[in-house]
Amino acid sequence: MFFYEPRVTVLARPAFVEPEHLPVQWMGDSTDGERLAEFAGRLCYMSQRNPAKRSTREYLENILKQGHGSVLEHANYSLLLEGISRSLTHELVRHRAGFAYSQLSQRYVDESEAAFVVPPAIIGDTALEEAWKRQVESAQHAYVALVDALMERYAWVGDKVHRRKMAREAGRGVLPNSTETKIVVTANVRAWRTMLELRCGEGAEQEIRRMGLQVLRVLQVEIPAFFADFEIYLADDRREAARPGFHKV
Ligand SMILES: Cc1cc2nc3c(=O)[nH]c(=O)nc-3n(C[C@H](O)[C@H](O)[C@H](O)COP(=O)(O)OP(=O)(O)OC[C@H]3O[C@@H](n4cnc5c(N)ncnc54)[C@H](O)[C@@H]3O)c2cc1C
Repeated sequence: MFFYEPRVTVLARPAFVEPEHLPVQWMGDSTDGERLAEFAGRLCYMSQRNPAKRSTREYLENILKQGHGSVLEHANYSLLLEGISRSLTHELVRHRAGFAYSQLSQRYVDESEAAFVVPPAIIGDTALEEAWKRQVESAQHAYVALVDALMERYAWVGDKVHRRKMAREAGRGVLPNSTETKIVVTANVRAWRTMLELRCGEGAEQEIRRMGLQVLRVLQVEIPAFFADFEIYLADDRREAARPGFHKV
């Protein structure tokens, strides 16, 4: 199986519980995560009465404008990312502050039928795609042969789970960077914004940029007040890129 684009699913979002003794004069539509950040911001100045009569969206836009990024750290969102390559996640997990990751283990999970992610630069060129597919399929055959041989070589290891791990952790060495993986990523909004600013930019690697754009679109629907300032545009390389209206806070 070949992936031509990532699959992004929202797994978890905040559930805001307003304290009865500190109600806020909310204005406009908002989600729990957005209200949580507004509540946290307003607590700093005890401005729950909303003297400036700002909607949640206006309030959070001002937070972004002022660079009060710590307020955004209260709202965490978990996404399931699938149809992405091991090389992409190798880059993704470099984002540390405010992030948590849980990724499919190639030591525990059999990759005999793993899928592969077609690099964006190859898509659309039939000859290149076929050459690339031949290579990854041949690598997968080598993996299956290696794992089988190693299971026999270590037949004396009584614990079958341990034996499989020994075989798979060695066998995976021949699998390509394009092998598909799955990862659960949790991050607060400040961290998501920083990562998306870097990875949706024109300098980012094509696959992570494509994933970043998909994550951005999902989050713009999920929590527009936090991501409305990001502009998606067609870059000089004729691929989409995105930039925030308010730089990293
Ligand atoms: C286009 C592009 C090309 C890249 N190329 C390469 C490459 O060739 N080789 C390579 O190794 N990496 C490369 N990277 C990865 C890059 O170096 C960073 O590791 C990655 O972007 C994560 O950024 P960060 O450390 O700012 O993020 P995070 O770890 O999420 O940190 C966010 C912010 O928190 C603060 N922070 C976090 N940890 C610390 C700390 N320990 N001490 C002080 N402050 C901290 C910093 O202000 C930091 O900017 C590339 C990234 C991009 C976007």
